[in-house]
Amino acid sequence: MSANDDLKALIRTIPDFPKPGIQFRDITTLLLDPKGFAQTIERMAAATRGTVDLVAGIEARGFLFAAALALPLKAGVLLIRKDGKLPGATIAEDYALEYGQDRIAIHEDALVPGARVLLVDDLIATGGTARAAVRLIRKAGGVVEQAQFLVDLPDLGGADALRKEDIAVDALLSFPGH
Ligand code: AMP
Repeated sequence: MSANDDLKALIRTIPDFPKPGIQFRDITTLLLDPKGFAQTIERMAAATRGTVDLVAGIEARGFLFAAALALPLKAGVLLIRKDGKLPGATIAEDYALEYGQDRIAIHEDALVPGARVLLVDDLIATGGTARAAVRLIRKAGGVVEQAQFLVDLPDLGGADALRKEDIAVDALLSFPGH
């Protein structure tokens, strides 16, 4: 037994979704479990270092963890959205996908310069999305030095790539492989 095996047991693995060879780690089953979700947030809060002004969540599952975590941390919530969804003036960042490109955005006035931001998502795989989010927050004047995930897929190298950007990375659980 390791520390977060109780949470790991609440995550369902769906093979070959969304395409052959991918083991999809489905966290919706953890969200359905009141104790499991509460424990997830409690353990993420305990792993947070120092004072945080904003918890930044990556669309869409990241929003759930960011919003819940912001409450015990007494922080605000910064939405990192897919491009084209935010109504006000935005700044955006592109990142590479396996096939093609994607773009995330925040409101250009969402951050006061020097705001301390904790980045949160459900899962880190290649880290492409999280690294783009870090670039975006830094471009907007925020200070981001830590990121938290429920799940890490260490064989895909995303957490290590994020550490190279001077981010302290924590994940409650990890799964081998893709
Ligand atoms: P990446 O940019 O490669 O780190 O991918 C991160 C995003 O893709 C996260 O927001 C995850 O929700 C999703 N994702 C990537 N791989 C998986 C997987 N095997 N199972 C579930 N979600 C995944």
